Amino acid sequence: MRDDHAFALCLTHDVDRPFKTYQSIYYALQERPLYHLKTAIRRTNPYWQFDEIRSLEAELGVRSAFYFLNEPHLFRGTSPREWFRPARWVQHIGSYDVESPEIADVIRCLDANGWEIGLHGSFDSYRDKERLRYEKDVLENVLGHPIVGGRQHYLHLDVPETWRYHDDLGLQYDASLGSSHEYGFPARVRTAPSVRRFVRRLPADRDGNRPSGPRRGVR
Ligand SMILES: [Zn+2]
Repeated sequence: MRDDHAFALCLTHDVDRPFKTYQSIYYALQERPLYHLKTAIRRTNPYWQFDEIRSLEAELGVRSAFYFLNEPHLFRGTSPREWFRPARWVQHIGSYDVESPEIADVIRCLDANGWEIGLHGSFDSYRDKERLRYEKDVLENVLGHPIVGGRQHYLHLDVPETWRYHDDLGLQYDASLGSSHEYGFPARVRTAPSVRRFVRRLPADRDGNRPSGPRRGVR
């Protein structure tokens, strides 16, 4: 961040569901049924917005980060009791394979043209370092070089454990801070001593300056 600026705006996208499947029926039951059912019948995919976002950002002269999710299969690594929990199904239905040719193509194309590719740590990975390591390895394999950061799915964080994992795995930043229910940052996160330590650990800019504390680095 430049010294004469109080803050910097970073554009980021979590790639949760790039394919519209079950959502056509689910949303049709809640609102605009004709529109949602049409997207199912015509087999169009309004969730595939990579080209639109790329064109828009190129036109505006900006580049964002895309964080890719690698959710484990429902039946892999979870107890049978978990298989029957609807909350679990939501995490798995409509998930995608980051190694599939069409997703891998998008990742490489974005990267080649200056967009950042990052990790969108899966639902439970905030408390599972080995899972995070696996997801990072798979994504870097597709990408062909190391990634530097990302954001946890659902903004799940176990402070400071999740950041220890990130640090151990060589990630340099985490964009999970914040709340999915309110604007800004929850007070408990803002004032946590570990947040201050984390900010102190952030890499220095070109002139050797670091954010001085949560007031500047987190808000
Ligand atoms: Zn997400």
